[in-house]
Amino acid sequence: MPLSNSQYDIIIREYNAKLLRRRRLVDKRIKEVYEKEPRLKKIEDAVSSCSLVQAKKLLSGDVTALPKLRGQLTEYKKQRLEILGKLGYSEQYFEPDYECRDCKDTGYIGNERCHCFKQRAIDLVYTQSNIRSILKDENFENFSYDYYSDSQKNPSTGLTSLETMQNAVKDSKKFIQEFDYKFSNLFFYGDTGVGKTFLSNCVAKELLDTGHSVIYFTAFQLFDIFAKNTFHRDTEEDIIASHQNVFDCDLLIIDDLGTEMPNSFTISQLFLCLNERILRRRSTIISTNLTLSQIAEIYSERTFSRISSSFTMLKLFGDDIRIQKKLR
Ligand SMILES: [Zn+2]
Repeated sequence: MPLSNSQYDIIIREYNAKLLRRRRLVDKRIKEVYEKEPRLKKIEDAVSSCSLVQAKKLLSGDVTALPKLRGQLTEYKKQRLEILGKLGYSEQYFEPDYECRDCKDTGYIGNERCHCFKQRAIDLVYTQSNIRSILKDENFENFSYDYYSDSQKNPSTGLTSLETMQNAVKDSKKFIQEFDYKFSNLFFYGDTGVGKTFLSNCVAKELLDTGHSVIYFTAFQLFDIFAKNTFHRDTEEDIIASHQNVFDCDLLIIDDLGTEMPNSFTISQLFLCLNERILRRRSTIISTNLTLSQIAEIYSERTFSRISSSFTMLKLFGDDIRIQKKLR
């Protein structure tokens, strides 16, 4: 779904507000430091007036004006830095960080929309704001192996629940590290409460923090969006055009596949979605409680074959973390 005009206006207003907030912060800091040392204000005034004087001279043909001005400015700059240093400040104090250094909070790099603009558009179009608050808690910093047993073994792999999770974390971190140059996808499966969604969120957080566009959907939301936009669209090209963001974002997360009550529509849309993303070499993470044979059975062999050939399959297992948390 493309941005509507009003959504575009909202984003532009947000960028303007960000710049204004930063400007006010800079002004506040200048005032604070200048109050501590009024000589700084005098230096600033002197810089303005000598620039003006020398500019006038330059315009009237005085060729010595420019080198003179440069000399004066260097001297003032030195004095200013000395004073700031004695007060314990640096010039950096007057240049607070931008939220996005790449576009300096303008949303654009040249004529191109910055990655932060693209993500904001996704958040707005697909109402992703709830995932932001979830990611504050669900990330690698808060990840704990405490819930994974080092004795309970998966008979089919011989690995303990803890070892299985350690491997999955290792694969997830590799996925993040190689994200910009290696196309890959992750498929987390296993019983309820073994940490599949948590792990997907850890990956989402890392990629969002490094400026990638991420869309998070439960399977139910994904098919709901498809259903709303597919209505009245006749051809597959139309459908694809109306879901550019879903097919093009750097990472798409489809959580809880199988909980959407599959039917012929969702089955065909899942294939379309995965196929488009694979063709565009855009990464996807799927998590599901379904077994692999159920995936093949419900979503057809051709979807299963796409998944098994393009995704790293990670089966997690252990006790339900949600129940364990309640028991503690
Ligand atoms: Zn930016």
